[in-house]
Amino acid sequence: MNTTPLAGAKSPFPGRLILEGQVDQVMKILVINCGSSSLKYQLFDMDNESVLAKGLVERIGIEGSQIKHTKTGMDAVVNQTPIPDHKVAIKLVLDALTDKQHGVLSSLSELSAVGHRVVHGGEDFASSVKLDAKVMEAVKRCVPLAPLHNPANIMGIEAVTAALPNIPQVGVFDTAFHQTMPPHAFIYGVPYGYYEKYKVRRYGFHGTSHFFVSRRAAEMLGQPIEKLKIVTCHLGNGSSITAVDGGKSIDTSMGFTPLAGVLMGTRSGDVDPALLPFIANMEKLSVAELDSLLNKKSGLLGVSGISSDLRDIESAAGKGDKRAKLAEDILNYDVKKYIGAYAAAMGGIDALVFTAGVGENSASTRAAVCEGLEFLGIKIDAQKNDMRGKEMEISAAGSKVHVLVIPTNEELMIARDTKRLAF
Ligand code: ADP
Repeated sequence: MNTTPLAGAKSPFPGRLILEGQVDQVMKILVINCGSSSLKYQLFDMDNESVLAKGLVERIGIEGSQIKHTKTGMDAVVNQTPIPDHKVAIKLVLDALTDKQHGVLSSLSELSAVGHRVVHGGEDFASSVKLDAKVMEAVKRCVPLAPLHNPANIMGIEAVTAALPNIPQVGVFDTAFHQTMPPHAFIYGVPYGYYEKYKVRRYGFHGTSHFFVSRRAAEMLGQPIEKLKIVTCHLGNGSSITAVDGGKSIDTSMGFTPLAGVLMGTRSGDVDPALLPFIANMEKLSVAELDSLLNKKSGLLGVSGISSDLRDIESAAGKGDKRAKLAEDILNYDVKKYIGAYAAAMGGIDALVFTAGVGENSASTRAAVCEGLEFLGIKIDAQKNDMRGKEMEISAAGSKVHVLVIPTNEELMIARDTKRLAF
């Protein structure tokens, strides 16, 4: 922040600060999602939660790097330039946001705060948090739990700190929402000492999305979240199902890592753990090769041999490809089983939510998952279900359970938490 809020001054407008000289300034929040070689960003005007600009930096540290920037309402512009590290990436993002032609900020002083997606918060973070040196130490302690993701998130935070040393920053963790799970849901049946020594337990992921859609479901139904039993199905390239009882996550299908649960694009989901030593022996695979097999060569891709993208699988299955149809069937069956399990875990179900790429767009997945669940009170209307990408209730008249499609918006959720915690 370049300007200091007047002592004791409170804005009459939510989302606005009253700044020095009584200038009423709209709050603009930058949301950053850093991967090891990519960086996604969105700039929000929190006055009306609209997106002013967004973009993607790709191939950081690799040949062929570029930034693609889109000012809302205009065509995307692409700048192909060497981007050796995250510091340079952040500089390019800030330059794009303040660019005379394609930018949306007259100067960086208009930026109020930055929110970061952080994948793993371990047991240290049960909610989002304003970042400072002590918090960063804890985030670094979580690196062994997410060795591919947390280091990239940390690089993003440090790059912003270097470019804008005084800007408030907030971390929003994928794991935080699931910290309400009871021990019987998160402790694995292995010697307890591994939990104490290595923090081996179920953490769960996609928490920001499960939180967002469960709250939105309660709003759509006009009921308090505390009274609802909701199963949220985040089905994308990575997929997870969560039991949200009274607003709290009480169980979720991903585990110690995002490999567990239902079949995914390239990830196996749940398998018999004894499969691992068996395959390693038969195929003479190292631990690293086994890890890569289960994370990158399994799932829809591994079963079908065609693609990790459900659109390709649906198209191949439609043309009669048996393994594509089998891959689709496994996914639908896995999701159905988790819905049944979580209805049992919560002692009932009031609402079922579909979200993310597959959940929002694939009518056939939603139909196949819900088929046969009438005994639980789940019945969808085929005509209402015949749509994609829209927020709507698709349950049939008389369905005891409300079946909802809710586009997820993790970036907005991060912007909201940043606004709440940054100042
Ligand atoms: P990520 O987990 O990477 O965020 P997304 O949530 O974007 O992924 O979901 C990507 C998945 O959504 C892909 O498998 C893609 O095939 C699927 N998808 C997107 N649009 C459709 C569609 N119209 N029909 C079926 N599947 C779709």
